[in-house]
Amino acid sequence: MRKKMIIGNWKMNMTPNECKSYINFIKNKIDAALEDNDIILCVPSVDFIDALKCVENTKIMIGAQNIYFEKKGAFTGEISIRMIKELGINYTILGHSERRNIFSESEELINKKVRAAVENSINPIVCIGESEKQNSKFSAARFIKIQTGNVFVSINTQQAKKITIAYEPVWAIGTKSTPTLERIQEVCYEIRNNIVNLYGQLISEQIRIIYGGSVDSKNIKEIINLPDVDGVLVGSASITPEFISIVNYQKT
Ligand code: PEP
Repeated sequence: MRKKMIIGNWKMNMTPNECKSYINFIKNKIDAALEDNDIILCVPSVDFIDALKCVENTKIMIGAQNIYFEKKGAFTGEISIRMIKELGINYTILGHSERRNIFSESEELINKKVRAAVENSINPIVCIGESEKQNSKFSAARFIKIQTGNVFVSINTQQAKKITIAYEPVWAIGTKSTPTLERIQEVCYEIRNNIVNLYGQLISEQIRIIYGGSVDSKNIKEIINLPDVDGVLVGSASITPEFISIVNYQKT
């Protein structure tokens, strides 16, 4: 059975002091939820050390928001896999729509990062999803199929199992509007179906597919319980006290 996951994407928010106060505030309030769900806070890299210290002796995990695919060298401003691994970080978001749209990351670059991650035992959470313009049913399905294929280029079966796909329709991010539950299930099912075509049924059933885009404490339960949805990626609500109710969704 696939374990559910709840990922917080802090984006460019929270100084180290704010990070410490926030994690210390939430950590004892989400204990029970950690038995059944993987909770991963993807924090800015300046917060790694403090965040890791704060989650010691809890099951909360800390992840990165991005990495570069090269091992080391003249890549000003980037962080490497070796750097996060040395700290004990095993997860990173890759290909978030903000990386794709604001920083012009191409499908090819994202695939290089995914490959570097899985070759070095890092579990990438790779974001895909249609924009507002592609939001007619047919073109979105075609677009998502192409994006899914591009994520898995040159990835072998064992490596594929480390990847989580986050379906994040760009038009739903930070907008307080979500697709219908039927639509979320349909797209996540389609993504799994694309993975069946690439790696077969057995592997497709082991890969986690999560949903992201305006998840809050009111809609999480219905979304996370959809058959092909194995978790959620939470942006804006992951830096507020509401995150506690999101993580504790089973209690409502
Ligand atoms: C995100 O940026 O990945 C995201 C899901 O944001 P929000 O929850 O704010 O829509």
